[in-house]
Amino acid sequence: MTRTVQRSPAEETADPSRYPQALTVADFRRNLAEVHGRIDRACQRAGRDPATVRLLPVSKTVDEARIRLSYEAGCRELGENKVQEAHGKWKAMADLTGLRWSVIGHLQTNKAKLVAQFASEFQALDSLRVAEVLERRLQAEGRGLDVFVQVNTSGEASKYGLPPEEVVRFVRELAAYPALQVRGLMTLALLSPENARVRPCFALLRTLRDRLQAEVPHGNRITELSMGMSGDFETAIDEGATVVRVGQALYGARALPDSHFWPAAAQPC
Ligand SMILES: *Cc1c(COP(=O)(O)O)cnc(C)c1O
Repeated sequence: MTRTVQRSPAEETADPSRYPQALTVADFRRNLAEVHGRIDRACQRAGRDPATVRLLPVSKTVDEARIRLSYEAGCRELGENKVQEAHGKWKAMADLTGLRWSVIGHLQTNKAKLVAQFASEFQALDSLRVAEVLERRLQAEGRGLDVFVQVNTSGEASKYGLPPEEVVRFVRELAAYPALQVRGLMTLALLSPENARVRPCFALLRTLRDRLQAEVPHGNRITELSMGMSGDFETAIDEGATVVRVGQALYGARALPDSHFWPAAAQPC
């Protein structure tokens, strides 16, 4: 007897080599429509309102010319994982009105000054040292910053982010930094085409968010769950994602492998 393996929508789209480069405004309009369609269908399956899921386009490695095309197609916020690259793009595209920048990658304290200048949002906060320097720089700039606490939900030793058991205490301590507004949690799931291994990472982030809401003063303001990327955002939406960070499905496959951007995936425990 033969058995056909049922593939989830996330698995069907997990191969990034299938994303062609977007080179025209029409390409970006089509890709945006396609991604919004995937978001809508995932919400429908999960019984959620699509308006509760924010699409954050991720433009890392994408050059200015193609970013401008995506802006023309409607992208008004962009996620970048390297601070210097993001800061350079922000300066080069200061003429684009209403464009917001979100830093989604690890930050070293010596680059906090740049983030304080231009970012609307920082999604990878995982140390009090960084929080302290950001606070000082933001105070000097007279700015505030929305932050997400990054959690290592996959247990991979090489990944950034706090261990899950430290999140509640960490968020309590962030109360000392008033320029930082804690909006929610962010995670990178296990990079795996297997839905069954990815889903628990997302479920864990949601459980932690719910705990924060119950246990931390003003926890009711901590609502966001940033989880899910081009290959796995349907599963993330099913587990409650409120922000999906999508690069390749909008801009096209990146030349460099993911291991270039994130510490190499070690053995998951
Ligand atoms: C690159 C990146 C993404 C987007 O990944 P895609 O596969 O391009 O959708 C999401 N989150 C973070 C932190 C990233 O660095």
